[in-house]
Amino acid sequence: MVAPTATLSPSPTVQLTELPLLGRSVESLTEWVQAKGQPAYRGKQLHQWIYQKGIRSIDEVTVFSKKWRTEVKDFPVGRSHLHFRSESPDGTIKYLLKLTDGHIIEAVGIPSDKRLTVCVSSQIGCPMGCDFCATGKGGYIRNLETYEIIDQVLTVQEDFQRRVSNIVFMGMGEPLLNTKNVVAAVRSLNQDIGIGQRMITVSTVGIPGHIRRLAEENLQITLAVSLHASNQTLRTQLIPSAEKYPLSELIDECRDYVKATGRRVSFEYVVLADLNDQPEHAAELASELRGFQSHVNLIPYNPITEVDYKRPSRQRIEDFTQQLKDKGIAVSVRYSRGLEKDAACGQLRASQIAETPPKSEH
Ligand code: SAH
Ligand code: SF4
Repeated sequence: MVAPTATLSPSPTVQLTELPLLGRSVESLTEWVQAKGQPAYRGKQLHQWIYQKGIRSIDEVTVFSKKWRTEVKDFPVGRSHLHFRSESPDGTIKYLLKLTDGHIIEAVGIPSDKRLTVCVSSQIGCPMGCDFCATGKGGYIRNLETYEIIDQVLTVQEDFQRRVSNIVFMGMGEPLLNTKNVVAAVRSLNQDIGIGQRMITVSTVGIPGHIRRLAEENLQITLAVSLHASNQTLRTQLIPSAEKYPLSELIDECRDYVKATGRRVSFEYVVLADLNDQPEHAAELASELRGFQSHVNLIPYNPITEVDYKRPSRQRIEDFTQQLKDKGIAVSVRYSRGLEKDAACGQLRASQIAETPPKSEH
């Protein structure tokens, strides 16, 4: 396991001569079947079988001739294998998925009456090393490929036998260190699976210049920025990479994002008892965000074993919420689900995965 570092160098990716079929558009699949001597309409059929029927091998496409299926059956579709599945009493289900190269990632399905939300990973581990985050403590391996992101959504959809309505990039990894594949996945989830871009949230701790670059993609997604502190000193203490990225610059970049996209930004704030939950922090945060069309999402800290931060009492959180409201800030509290199974925010860790015995494999 690589030690956590805040390096921003390009990530290694999976070595494949040709990318799998998952993640390709209907046009690209049509070109692919034509290049293999098949009529164009086979492309549309293949698209349906990949995204609607969830095939794992082309050999399963029974509308194709047995002869052609035999010829191409070894071409990868790009699906992972279920390594482990665990359900929390609140209905949240955590999945450990084994990728083609043997690495394991997490995805979480979070059902409610009206929604099925998938919390997806964008990297194997995370190089940012935030002090309160289990993923950050577990090291970093590589960026996920586009198909590996889409596969997580299909896996949850198939398991729940229900359409996924919302996606949050809040699993393992920093999405804006993998913007190209994350953006390609967002487009494919939208066009190939039919999930509205407005139902997709990308959460970032902030990488200098990357939020502006994301704005150029003209997506309709919601951007969530992990702030966690009301001043630079405190933020640097929690997030090592913040040292090279002053809070004021991060907020300026967010303002530019709002200007360029017309979309609101939401700010996430992990509430740590006696550290960033005092009235002066609420006042400071409100002044940083003055005049900004934004929304603050408070996340009561979910304990991890490596550090001894504490989760504030419910009363403290209510007081902090009220203090922000009094200063005119739109605020809500997100009580994480899946806490019992370590599937909540910041509890997804690579090390634990290695220790987890496989329960169901197929
Ligand atoms: N890397 C991205 C997205 C993944 S983390 C980011 O940091 O935004 C998703 C959210 O979980 C972030 O807001 C993150 O700060 C939060 N989080 C991490 N560890 C946590 C913990 N122990 N308790 C509560 N929230 C946590
Ligand atoms: Fe990475 Fe986000 Fe965890 Fe920080 S909070 S270590 S950026 S996953």
